[in-house]
Amino acid sequence: MNVYDSLRMADLLAPLGYRPAETPEAADLVVLNTCHIREKAAEKVYSELGRLRALKRTRAAAGGSMTIAVAGCVAQAEGAEMLRRAPQVDMVFGPQSYHRLPELLAQVARNRAAGDGPGRGVLATDFPVESKFDHLPAAPAQGPSAFLSIQEGCDKFCTFCVVPYTRGAEYSRPVADIVAEAERLVAAGAREITLLGQNVNAYHGAAPAGGGSWRLGRLLRRLAAIEGLARLRYTTSHPRDMDDDLIAAHAELATLMPYLHLPVQSGSDAVLSAMNRRHDADAYRRVVDRLRAARPDLALSSDFIVGFPGESDADFAATLRLVTEVGYAQAYSFKYSARPGTPAAGLPDQVPEAVKAERLAALQQLLDAQQLAFNRATVGRALPVLLERRGRRPGQLVGRSPYMQAVHLPAPEDLLGTLVTAEIEAAGPNSLSARRAPDEAGAKAAAGPDRAACGAVA
Ligand code: SAM
Ligand code: SF4
Repeated sequence: MNVYDSLRMADLLAPLGYRPAETPEAADLVVLNTCHIREKAAEKVYSELGRLRALKRTRAAAGGSMTIAVAGCVAQAEGAEMLRRAPQVDMVFGPQSYHRLPELLAQVARNRAAGDGPGRGVLATDFPVESKFDHLPAAPAQGPSAFLSIQEGCDKFCTFCVVPYTRGAEYSRPVADIVAEAERLVAAGAREITLLGQNVNAYHGAAPAGGGSWRLGRLLRRLAAIEGLARLRYTTSHPRDMDDDLIAAHAELATLMPYLHLPVQSGSDAVLSAMNRRHDADAYRRVVDRLRAARPDLALSSDFIVGFPGESDADFAATLRLVTEVGYAQAYSFKYSARPGTPAAGLPDQVPEAVKAERLAALQQLLDAQQLAFNRATVGRALPVLLERRGRRPGQLVGRSPYMQAVHLPAPEDLLGTLVTAEIEAAGPNSLSARRAPDEAGAKAAAGPDRAACGAVA
């Protein structure tokens, strides 16, 4: 979502004459778009600001100027404290305020002209009543694979998570706006769209006409009808919001890719309850079973937190058991990080760092082995691959399989942005290497995926 937000900030700045710079050294304006989800992510911002302070001083000594802005969830959480702690910062604005970027820049210029010194930065961290989406310019091209934010914020209040505080209450964009943005993206060359939201399957946007609202399953069916759109994905989902209609969409829509990120966090019911996840481990298993019944080749990904306060050896063993039973194609796992202001930060029985590290290593060993086995199982198969970018080697392009695996293969550049059939030759932990299937297979894949081509064609 931060990638999407950064692209939209660039759209807002383009009419003011700004364009992306390769390095901070070459930039008049540096925007750090930040993440507050774990302490490490937040701390990185301050160390980066230290480097930028030196750059800003050098620029000033040479008679120039540089504007430093901090956006995103660290900005939202720290607010005025950030301007005090890092007086080199000119602007601090939260994720719901970035549509005001041109106005905020003008304010910085006015302050500077008035001779305001460091520490007098501009702050925008209110949650505005109006939606920022109504104030953003039409989204421009993003290439063959594009992001589209459809939902933001969260009302779930998991006890470890800052999102409800930094991104605010749940908000769903109207269906008509999403369809219009998707059509523009496809017209500009997108073949794949990933719908984004902190809690994307809680989507309930205003219907295009006649009142009421649509849930995600219905929205996906509408988007799947856009001509030229070959692939749809959505992330990130909550197990509680995986309704019947959405599960049915996985069975019906060839365009909906057979890969789903469905975080579970823990396999222990006691921990899930203390996390306020509102489901137990068996409820998660049942959702997975129903999804796999709808789409038998569905590959799953998840998020896990180890060392949540009070997590015992038995709780952690339950997580390992769940991972073994479900089987993941890919996953993200983290040590619990106490976030100020969240309920879990004040819980007793915080788990010692060494125990967290040990558990994380054990979990990652299991998840890595599952990922490698999943990748190896595709060797010898023919998979449709959407070619997205040049590879490191000359003559090589890189794309994604339906299951989100990175696939490297030799191909001419004019195939960038198209779907080709790739015969998988080798698999590593993080990527596959392949060769293009004979031309007729490539031509068939480029015409768009049919039901069989979306999955694995033997
Ligand atoms: N909405 C998604 C869900 O319900 O699963 C998760 C979105 S959250 C932005 C991304 C992931 O960061 C979470 O799934 C969780 O695993 C991890 N995370 C969030 N807060 C954390 C914390 N305090 N410590 C460690 N990991 C955390
Ligand atoms: Fe955070 Fe996801 Fe829980 Fe919302 S549902 S509070 S975003 S972990």
